[in-house]
Amino acid sequence: MDGKIALEEHWAVDETMHRAGGSFWDEMGKRLRDFRGKRLAEMDAHGIAFAILGLNSPALQGVLDPAKAVDLARRTNDRLAEEIARTPRRLGGFAGLPMQDPTAAARELARCVRELGFKGAMVNCFTQRHVADSAIYYDLPEFQPFWATVAELGVPLYLHPRQTLPSRALAYEGHRWLYSPAWDFGSETALQALRLIGSGLFDSFPTLQIVLGHLGERIPFDMWRIDNLMAKLPVKYPAKKRVSEYMRENFHLTTSGQFHDTAFHCALAAVGASRIMFSVDYPYEEMSAAAAWFDHTPLPEAERMRIGRTNATALFGIELA
Ligand code: MN
Repeated sequence: MDGKIALEEHWAVDETMHRAGGSFWDEMGKRLRDFRGKRLAEMDAHGIAFAILGLNSPALQGVLDPAKAVDLARRTNDRLAEEIARTPRRLGGFAGLPMQDPTAAARELARCVRELGFKGAMVNCFTQRHVADSAIYYDLPEFQPFWATVAELGVPLYLHPRQTLPSRALAYEGHRWLYSPAWDFGSETALQALRLIGSGLFDSFPTLQIVLGHLGERIPFDMWRIDNLMAKLPVKYPAKKRVSEYMRENFHLTTSGQFHDTAFHCALAAVGASRIMFSVDYPYEEMSAAAAWFDHTPLPEAERMRIGRTNATALFGIELA
């Protein structure tokens, strides 16, 4: 399919780069810092017309000093805006936000949307603040004014994974492979999303729209079971509706890093074709693999067009020639 739009496509600056060495991370580092070389060539080769770029993970959310996070957010967003301005018909931007300071995060998002033309925000799950062993989730009361600003601006927030803190990852001991994007990313991000849902955030701000990658970080598979158990168990959450209702009214899912029919059809049945959008997760995943799967998976062509392109143009107000 030509003309696809991709939404979980990463970039980085030296300050947000992984410190890990080795040829895999060296190659990722090169690709993350490239805007018009291999990135555009791959987009051309695999029918991707437009990509919205967001910082790598954890980037801003791993900065301990709130003032430094505010400064780095502003500099990286300005840098992304400069890159986009050179190729505005191919690239768009998600704001990185200094969630350590909810007031500053709201202000930066408003600036990015109103002055830089960004399409929303990409936030890497929980934020650390002041000390390394801290994980702050955005259902806490201090974030209510931040969410009010997101709702007022009417832009989606892409909730992207990051790794669980070492102090909270004791259950992974001896199984380093699980403490990775292969398993932990999804668990951590699903936890944050379910905290937002259960807190009643979407009762307070019913128009808020959150985007989850990886076909919903496993929540679609568990949705019926969560609803079923919440109706029966004595433990309750403050939110008014069932988890599945919020997933169908306040969430959108992307295909990032999930190029397989089993998970795709589960997500499709769970939230419907109007709430799923194509994405790659470049450079950690290959555009060739994403397109090879999506372009040929059995699907009515009208749904392929919605998921591949028009759901995104509508949600993000993307105008393509
Ligand atoms: Mn990603």
